[in-house]
Amino acid sequence: MSTIVDRYDKIKSKILSLKANKQVNIIAVSKTFTLEHIQPLVDYGHLHFGENKVQEATAKWTTQKIKNKDLKLHMIGKLQSNKAKDAVKLFDYIHSVDNQRLADALAKHQTNFNRNLKYFIQVNIGNEIQKSGIPVNELDAFYNYCINEINLNIIGLMIIPPIDQNADKYFKSLNELNKSLALENLSMGMSADYMEAIRHGSTFVRIGSSIFGPRS
Ligand SMILES: *Cc1c(COP(=O)(O)O)cnc(C)c1O
Repeated sequence: MSTIVDRYDKIKSKILSLKANKQVNIIAVSKTFTLEHIQPLVDYGHLHFGENKVQEATAKWTTQKIKNKDLKLHMIGKLQSNKAKDAVKLFDYIHSVDNQRLADALAKHQTNFNRNLKYFIQVNIGNEIQKSGIPVNELDAFYNYCINEINLNIIGLMIIPPIDQNADKYFKSLNELNKSLALENLSMGMSADYMEAIRHGSTFVRIGSSIFGPRS
């Protein structure tokens, strides 16, 4: 068995051992890795993969998606609104919706291409230096805008917690915000902290290096 598949299976058993209330989906974050490197996990039948650049993802995954219609691609990185069109054509989920201009562009292009993506709103929960994510005090208004005015299918909230801090309190607050909006899904948890994230209700964990090895 390949090392990658072996690591993936171990992570999957650890997650199952938590007996979470909801199904937890593993997004295998394949950014920077070649398709050749990722292939064993595709062949193994894993379906959810994450990328953070539209161009890289398009080059890597377009043919794969034609071959396997069940593959689901997740855009987890910052998305400029001028890339929304290409993103909508390729991805099935976008985790980084955090401003009205981007939301409008996504809504327009998904109508034009007759696509129906699932979206997460990224929240800047630490309200700190890191610029991605909508501030907590603007979340309600932005969420209402997305679902009522432009019909984006928002399925949950997403965070990248501030680095070098205990992520626990951020996971907890995001779970509370998610509940206050009656949302079903949470995108949180990476290689270092996915178990904590699941304990706080995460349903999509984004795991890269623990599956594919260190990125150069
Ligand atoms: C790269 C990345 C991940 C995966 O990080 P690992 O620490 O390698 O698991 C998760 N989420 C986002 C937004 C990323 O950019």
